[in-house]
Parts: sequence; structure tokens; C-alpha cells
Amino acid sequence: NTFAEIDLGEALNQNIRRCKYVKPTPVQRHAIPISLGGRDLMACAQTGSGKTAAFCFPIISGIMRGQGQPLQRPPRGVRTVYPLALVLSPTRELSMQIHDEARKFSYQTGVRVVVAYGGAPINQQLRELERGVDILVATPGRLVDLLERARVSLQMIRYLALDEADRMLDMGFEPQIRKIVEQMDMPPPGARQTMLFSATFPKEIQRLASDFLSNYVFLAV
Ligand code: AMP
Repeated sequence: NTFAEIDLGEALNQNIRRCKYVKPTPVQRHAIPISLGGRDLMACAQTGSGKTAAFCFPIISGIMRGQGQPLQRPPRGVRTVYPLALVLSPTRELSMQIHDEARKFSYQTGVRVVVAYGGAPINQQLRELERGVDILVATPGRLVDLLERARVSLQMIRYLALDEADRMLDMGFEPQIRKIVEQMDMPPPGARQTMLFSATFPKEIQRLASDFLSNYVFLAV
């Protein structure tokens, strides 16, 4: 069982080789086929399990397949951007890590990844967004700010990944997360594919899953 046997698209498979990933980790081995098959997923995953690749590969592969022209570059003068995928993560550090990895995986695919987190000036992040964004990696508070400024619209989101969902709830982000997901619940129904990763599964996480995921697979490895 190797990545070479999984058809993720030539450019992504090449980037995986470049990263020296040969064998999928257990969470990757199970999560990637489920997501490629279009199902929603709730997965048990600890730090170090390889969960970043588990949600990045299907997203990048799906964007490359679904769009002849992945880069949603806004026309001049238009300042609202429409990412196709959103990765929500609890902290600035984790967002930066996901961004770094996602950029390596999307090298020469035409898929552009941008990161936005709080506790840092927003202007540089706005400039990066203005250059276009396919995959937005963000912390919930900063994303709500961008939505309120109408600099980001979630109406085109086809992939949503919630990383370390239990930590986001522990940090009190549930209202922001609900506000964010509400903005995606526009037509067409069922167009969004959602992946929820969490180390623990208290009632609150199960409630999020039943509110945000549809007909999902629960994966515990
Ligand atoms: P994560 O759990 O996503 O933070 O990944 C933990 C570490 O494992 C990161 O440094 C990844 O680059 C690395 N990694 C993830 N998947 C693989 C794989 N299939 N083969 C080798 N290294 C991997």
C-alpha cells in the first residue's frame, strides 16, 4: 500500500514523492479513499498522525479535477475573494504549519493556498488574499473578521476541514465556527464535503458533526 497506487493526479503524486512520503499513515490510508469517494468524514486523529495530508490530498486533488482553472483570481478592483476550500484550525501556529504543508503539496498544481490568523496585522494577509485563493487556512476569529469586512465570501466553498475540532471548542470558538458554517449553507445543497478531525469525541463534537456533516463515515484508527 503506497501513495503511488492512489491516483491523486500527476502533479500531486509528484509532490508527495518530493516530500518523501511513500506509505500512507493509518489515518491517511483510510481517510483519503473515503474523502476521494465524496463522503463526509469524522476522524479520530492525534497530532503526528499525518492528518494534515489526510485532508489536504483530497482537497487539492478535488480542486485540480473539478476546475480547469483552479485559481480564483478576482478581477481588478474587486476585493472579495471566493475560496473553494476552507481549513479551520485553532491556533496561529497550527495554521502556519498547515499552510506550509499545503503549499508543498500544491506546488505547481495551480492551486493557491493562503493563511489568515489572528494576533498578526491583517494587511499582509489581505494582500495575499487579493492575489487569489483556492484553499484558505484560517483561525475562526480572524475569518469572522474577514467575513464582516466582506473580504472573503464562503459561497463557493466545496471542501471544509475542521482540524483539532475539540481544541477549537475548548478555546471557545463554537459561536464563530457556527457563524462561519452558516455562511456556507447556501445552494446547491450537498455541494459541500466536510471533514472533521478531533482527538476526542465529547457530546459537543458529536453535536457539531451531526449539524455540519451529512451521511458521514466515522473513522477511528
Ligand atoms: P501531522 O500529523 O499532519 O502533523 O503530520 C506529522 C508529521 O508526519 C509531519 O511532519 C508530516 O510531514 C509527516 N508525515 C505525514 N504523513 C506522512 C507519510 N505518509 N510519510 C512520511 N511522513 C509523513
